[in-house]
Amino acid sequence: MPTSSEFPFLVSPTLLTGVLAFLAHRPSPPLDFLILKNRHAAYRLGRKSLGLFRQMIGRGLRPAPDKSDVVILDHSGGVHRHGRPDDHIEWTLETDKRAVNPTHESRKAAAPKNADPFCSCPACGLIRGRGMACDACGWQPKPRGRDVEVINGDLIELGKIGPVTEEQKITFYRELRGFQARARRKDGQPYHPRRAAAQHKDKFKSWPPWSWDSFEPLEPTLATLRWIKHRQIAYAKRRGAA
Ligand SMILES: [Zn+2]
Repeated sequence: MPTSSEFPFLVSPTLLTGVLAFLAHRPSPPLDFLILKNRHAAYRLGRKSLGLFRQMIGRGLRPAPDKSDVVILDHSGGVHRHGRPDDHIEWTLETDKRAVNPTHESRKAAAPKNADPFCSCPACGLIRGRGMACDACGWQPKPRGRDVEVINGDLIELGKIGPVTEEQKITFYRELRGFQARARRKDGQPYHPRRAAAQHKDKFKSWPPWSWDSFEPLEPTLATLRWIKHRQIAYAKRRGAA
C-alpha cells in the first residue's frame, strides 16, 4: 500500500477496514491502493489541475513485479472532471497551454448540458460513461424508447357517407340478434336477452324499438362480427384498466 510520504495519498481510517476486507478476498495481493481524499488541499488542487491529478494517480499506475491491479478510491471526484486514469492525455510543454484529455472532452460534449459524463453502474456500482456499457461487469443500459403518446380510442368503421338509415339500423340489430342466438359466454351460458339491444344503443346511441324484435334474426356479416369483437376487446381493456 502506498505511503503518504512523497505524495499526499492518505488512507482514511474509516475506509481501512473495508480495504482490508477487500484484500482478504483477493487471491493475489500485489496491487496498489490509492485513496484520493477530498479534504486535503492537494486533492482540491488535483480537482482543478489535470496535470496534478494524473501525477497523483500515476503513483498507483506504475508497474511493479507481480503487480496486477490498482484500486483507486477517488473521493476527490477528480475522475468526473479529468476523466478515467486510462484515458490518453495530450501533454504540452508550452506554458500558455494546458494538458487536455480529448476522450473526456468528447464525453463531456456528448453528455446533456451540465450533466456529469459519468454515472455509477446500477449492477456493480463502479463508474461508467453515461449511456455506455459498464467496463467492469458488462451491464448495458437499455435503449430509451421514443416517447410515443398513446391515446385509447375506439376503432370506428367508416360506413357509407350520409346518415344511417332506419333500414340499416334494423339490419344491424337483426344481425346482432343472429349472433346472440348462438353466441355463448365464457361460462357456456347464453348472453342476456337484451344484449343485442344494448349493443345497438352502444353503436347508435339509441335503444331499438321493441317492435324490431318481430324481425327474424340474420346471419351477421363480417363487418358486424368485427364490430362485436372490437367492442368486446374494448370492454375487456376497460375492465383490465379499472
Ligand atoms: Zn458494472
